[in-house]
Amino acid sequence: MKIKIVKCLTDNYSYIIFNKENLLCAVVDPSEAEPIIEKIEKNNLKLKYIFNTHHHYDHVGGNKKLKEKYNCKVVGFEKDKDRIPEIDIVLKDNQKWKNELFECSILHIPGHTSGHICIYIKELKALFTGDTLFSLGCGRIFEGTYEEMYKSLSKLKKFPLNTRIYCGHEYTKKNSDFCLSIDSKNSKLINKINEINKNIQNEKPTIPSILEDELECNIFLRSDNMEIQKRLGINKDDPIKTFAKLRDLKDNF
Ligand code: ZN
Ligand code: FE
Repeated sequence: MKIKIVKCLTDNYSYIIFNKENLLCAVVDPSEAEPIIEKIEKNNLKLKYIFNTHHHYDHVGGNKKLKEKYNCKVVGFEKDKDRIPEIDIVLKDNQKWKNELFECSILHIPGHTSGHICIYIKELKALFTGDTLFSLGCGRIFEGTYEEMYKSLSKLKKFPLNTRIYCGHEYTKKNSDFCLSIDSKNSKLINKINEINKNIQNEKPTIPSILEDELECNIFLRSDNMEIQKRLGINKDDPIKTFAKLRDLKDNF
């Protein structure tokens, strides 16, 4: 099993998960159909499933066309079944689901949208985080509260350290500027930014990121750090308030 990164729209990533032997594949968050069709045809793949992390157009835009062309099934969160176009298979929070390609589990992580999920494939150490966790950032809060988003990110922090984070957008460079503005002396962050810059110069994706790096460098995962709280003028240990302050600062960055 392998994962192919497919660039879509201006800065979206979709992901094709495929089996090299039988050429079956699944796609996560097809923003649009064409780039996915191109990769499928070029590699003679057979599309079986579309997974959607949430209902935004830049994550479901390819559902209809792909389903028409390949007769595949659309998989998503049960509570978002009225907003995910063409949905066929509904999964519940914490549910494990096995198909002919892999076993995966989903987790409800609301905040960006109320029905946002992540998809975890243990055998690939892969976590598809949509617009909730980005490399060095997190999604905007559109349908939830700061506390919900904080809790969702806290759930993601508990995955194994070597988990690969496959997120919905290439926002890493901008996110790194924000992290640096608050955490300029973090040597791990500085090293990570050097790697990121190399990838960008070579026109390579900065994704996947490794959870361990995110825990050390992503400021949104570090709002329980007392030193960072102090820097933001939060006097008593209040990670949710710190997270809210970071999110507001980033919205105006
Ligand atoms: Zn979104
Ligand atoms: Fe998005």
